[in-house]
Amino acid sequence: MDNKLLVVGTMAYDAIETPFDKVDKILGGCATYIALSACQLQVKIGVVSIVGEDFEEKHLNLLRNKHIDLSGVAILKGEKTFFWSGRYHNDLNTRTTLQTDLNVLTQFDPKVPEGWCDASIVLLGNLNPLNQAAVLNQMTTPPQLVIMDTMNYWMDHFRADLDELIPRVDVLCINDEEARQLTDQNSLVKAAKIIQGMGPKYVIIKKGEHGALLFHQQEVFCAPALPLEEIFDPTGAGDSFVGGFAAYLSQHGDISFEAMKSAIIFGSAMASFTVEKFGPQNLEILTHEKIQKRLRTFNQLTKFEIALT
Ligand code: AMP
Repeated sequence: MDNKLLVVGTMAYDAIETPFDKVDKILGGCATYIALSACQLQVKIGVVSIVGEDFEEKHLNLLRNKHIDLSGVAILKGEKTFFWSGRYHNDLNTRTTLQTDLNVLTQFDPKVPEGWCDASIVLLGNLNPLNQAAVLNQMTTPPQLVIMDTMNYWMDHFRADLDELIPRVDVLCINDEEARQLTDQNSLVKAAKIIQGMGPKYVIIKKGEHGALLFHQQEVFCAPALPLEEIFDPTGAGDSFVGGFAAYLSQHGDISFEAMKSAIIFGSAMASFTVEKFGPQNLEILTHEKIQKRLRTFNQLTKFEIALT
């Protein structure tokens, strides 16, 4: 494995309301969270995305300074960056999308830079499935692993394109509500089986503060979420999770089910950092020590012994 992780997704400005606070404009977008999470490991990260002229240089530099390759990010003159706004309900597990302004996304024609057409892991972040497919079509060497995230917005508006893309994916990573919508099933176990029947060998179902499930053939692995006293802003938790998951596999050069179990714990740790502050602020200041400490906490959380007779 070449340690290259290619990410396609949105770079955005978000407006977020939680029961505690609100912000009118903060850096967001799935590719931003994915890259800021993945860069905590020793992985080469390339981003394919699009922004408008309003996208601030300081935000590009934030990513560049973390050695994230932005040569695949188009900057459209005279246009505005993708904008999303959402309001979280009191339980912080559910949210209402208030506004989605696609802006530059309507003109997005993803171009994978030359040096990235052979990346061994491709992470298709939550995006128009046609854009996700366009990235896969440009890979000159078939990736060893294709991971995909999506959301209800794309299921509602681009279902046929999504159905065409899903068979090309190895790991589908979605939340519980999306899994139910995609399969028309209430049971997540049944939903995962149906999704496996569509093509992906691995299915990850994220359950917010209740952790995540990984399905492969007949096996299931269950990862907890860290019980946090204060969740400040859940935005980007899913993206940080999948970014950490992909980076862990890439760094270890191992895409087995066993490696995925550890990768899910790493992803969960990254998500736990993200929700502690507004936007991606916590990811920006993470240290190796903080991550190690949190991984040890995860270890304690799930370690138990039981006498079997
Ligand atoms: P998450 O909380 O993990 O679902 O990710 C939130 C991020 O996704 C925000 O920063 C948004 O900018 C971005 N986002 C919201 N809606 C969409 C969409 N329809 N397509 C792509 N990205 C989106």
